[in-house]
Amino acid sequence: MNHPHAPSWYAETADKALAFAPLDGDTRADVAIIGGGYTGLSAALHLAEAGIDVVLIEAEKVGWGASGRNGGQLHSGQRRDQDWLERRLGKPAAHDLWQLAEEAKTLVHQLTEKHGIDAEWRPGLIEAVHKARLVDEERHYVDKLNRDYGYAPAEWIDRRRLAPMIGSDAYFGGRLDRTAGHLHPLKFAQGLAKAAAKAGARIHEQTAAKKLVDGESPVIETLRGRIKAEIVILAGNGLLDGIDQETETRAMPIKNFILTTEPIGAGGPGGLIPGGEAVSDSRFVVYYWRPTPDGRILFGGGETYTRSDPADVAAFVRRHLVKIYPALDKARIDHAWGGTLAVTVNRLPFLRKVRSGVYAASGYSGQGVALAPFGGKIIADAILGDPAKLDAFAALPCPRFPGGKLLRWPALVAGMSWYALRDRL
Ligand SMILES: Cc1cc2nc3c(=O)[nH]c(=O)nc-3n(C[C@H](O)[C@H](O)[C@H](O)COP(=O)(O)OP(=O)(O)OC[C@H]3O[C@@H](n4cnc5c(N)ncnc54)[C@H](O)[C@@H]3O)c2cc1C
Repeated sequence: MNHPHAPSWYAETADKALAFAPLDGDTRADVAIIGGGYTGLSAALHLAEAGIDVVLIEAEKVGWGASGRNGGQLHSGQRRDQDWLERRLGKPAAHDLWQLAEEAKTLVHQLTEKHGIDAEWRPGLIEAVHKARLVDEERHYVDKLNRDYGYAPAEWIDRRRLAPMIGSDAYFGGRLDRTAGHLHPLKFAQGLAKAAAKAGARIHEQTAAKKLVDGESPVIETLRGRIKAEIVILAGNGLLDGIDQETETRAMPIKNFILTTEPIGAGGPGGLIPGGEAVSDSRFVVYYWRPTPDGRILFGGGETYTRSDPADVAAFVRRHLVKIYPALDKARIDHAWGGTLAVTVNRLPFLRKVRSGVYAASGYSGQGVALAPFGGKIIADAILGDPAKLDAFAALPCPRFPGGKLLRWPALVAGMSWYALRDRL
């Protein structure tokens, strides 16, 4: 249970029998997709529904990456708030990005409804403020969303009201977002995979791309066959390694860790978080948690920027959990696991056509439950002749990490560790 690839609570509660045969022999396709997370699966689904011949390869299993391991929190907006976006990109672009993020959130519900995916959706997400000096800023932000963005579901909750809502007095208030919320991420990914396969997409698990050879028709090499395609979509996110320099220098893998407690009646009357909302906080290395349908607390906190993993993931995350819930010090930890996400320099996703015949999506920076299925869809739309939404993301600045892929680790570790230290101080 204490290593990053130990079975997660998600793996234990999702469809254990779902499997797709590995690729065996050479094949051709209109579109080939590398990566079976939300981005790749959504692109495959939307393309197959439009009658495109699509093949998707996944090195492990569908949802094995971040899409099947994450906090399950469906946020509003982009990873950067509207103030930041307005300052850096101007008001019109900031409004467009808010609208695109709203569409992304809606798409999740459209997909689950249309394809009958029971992803255990529960509405409500609280962005909790961990420093008194941040309260004014957050209150202003709620007003701004209400006033400038016409977004009524955001409400400021003061400290006195918040404490019983989350079962902790560690926070100074928070923003309740009623159309954000949480879901079972692996059930969602598996549902997308089943829908894509039903629509005609060919999915192959246990099939890693070893090399991408550019050309008029790009070729993907795997150990057991080559795929020749008109178009390739790189949807490997933080796990794409050694396939495409252009993409990999823009997005940096980071490991983040989660645990679940034993069932403690959370999310229901008399338990912690009786309203069932998800919570995430204002730390740079965010704490995020939520009750599960079987009454556990699923808590994410702590990340690493080096290639080595914590020796004991449960102990690593528990240190953070007890800062918010000291009484859970003695609670049994039933699952603990890790996953790899990808961040960009400015936390806006890298979503674009990188060159003729090759599209890439990466670096949703912790906001991919909403944005990655949307990223897959808008790449599919672009391939089908409607590039407007992809163009909006492609126009966003997305600098390379200083020093490129080889040197990005030391630079990032120095930068991130400083901010993580600031959280602790
Ligand atoms: C611990 C954790 C918590 C998170 N919490 C949240 C949250 O609460 N809310 C939120 O919005 N976001 C969260 N995120 C981020 C979110 O999960 C991601 O942004 C999103 O899942 C990205 O989807 P994706 O399809 O782009 O990538 P992934 O889901 O990572 O999928 C990429 C897939 O590509 C495959 N692959 C890579 N290289 C190859 C290759 N060469 N050949 C074949 N296959 C390959 C991998 O095996 C993997 O399955 C979290 C991430 C982590 C790790």
